[in-house]
Amino acid sequence: MIELDGVSKEFDGKRVLDGVTGRVEDGEIFAVIGPSGAGKSTLLRLVGLLDTPTAGTIRINGIDIHASKEQSLRIRRTIGMVFQKPAVFNTTVAENIAIGLRFRGVERRTIMKKVRGALDMVGLAGYEERRARTLSGGEMQRVALARAMVIEPEILLMDEPTANLDPVSVEKIEELVIRINRELGTTILFSTHDMYQGQRLAHRIAVLMNGRFAQVGTPREVFTIPATRDLARFVGIEN
Ligand code: ATP
Ligand code: MG
Repeated sequence: MIELDGVSKEFDGKRVLDGVTGRVEDGEIFAVIGPSGAGKSTLLRLVGLLDTPTAGTIRINGIDIHASKEQSLRIRRTIGMVFQKPAVFNTTVAENIAIGLRFRGVERRTIMKKVRGALDMVGLAGYEERRARTLSGGEMQRVALARAMVIEPEILLMDEPTANLDPVSVEKIEELVIRINRELGTTILFSTHDMYQGQRLAHRIAVLMNGRFAQVGTPREVFTIPATRDLARFVGIEN
């Protein structure tokens, strides 16, 4: 379970997150939607331990993830992350996926087996020796997803994972996300500015506006009974 308790973040005195409170249950697909600049990436970076909040607490399984370096490191190992721009290194696909396993000191044979398994899962079997930089955007993002999943994370964080992709690639990634959640039970927290994607994938959606979760609910709740006029405008059912 991920708990956000009054999470705030300021950059140069400007408050981007202003007391975000909410929680993501185990095994849930949870979407954070909101306009550009709302702070979605900032929030995911805080949960992914890439940055620290100015105030408030983030707990994973009851543990304050920013409390100590040791704690942070331990928790960081249970989280897989995928970013908007597929981040691939200029080596083979297999090397790109193996990184997290090498870091954990996993033995070579096991690494190769796990890499093959991860490639299979994302529909890129046989791509091991391809140079990662020669892949299409959609393929690269699937490699990024394989890299995040090969460590068997408890939590998968994805920041606008399909923002730059063509519709067919978007569909592939979305199918994968649903399968990962169903088959592996991975808790998935992702951001999107595409509310329809939120609707397609998420069990629950939080709308991030003015530094807070303006509303949290099932897609049906958020889209049919928006809590405020701002929200109604954002989901396009102003009345
Ligand atoms: P988008 O949908 O465009 O990705 P977002 O919701 O992810 O937007 P963030 O990237 O979290 O928004 O940015 C929120 C605000 O915080 C923006 O005004 C941004 O300029 C600011 N910001 C983010 N990171 C930093 C930083 N490292 N230093 C200063 N300002 C920052
Ligand atoms: Mg962003």
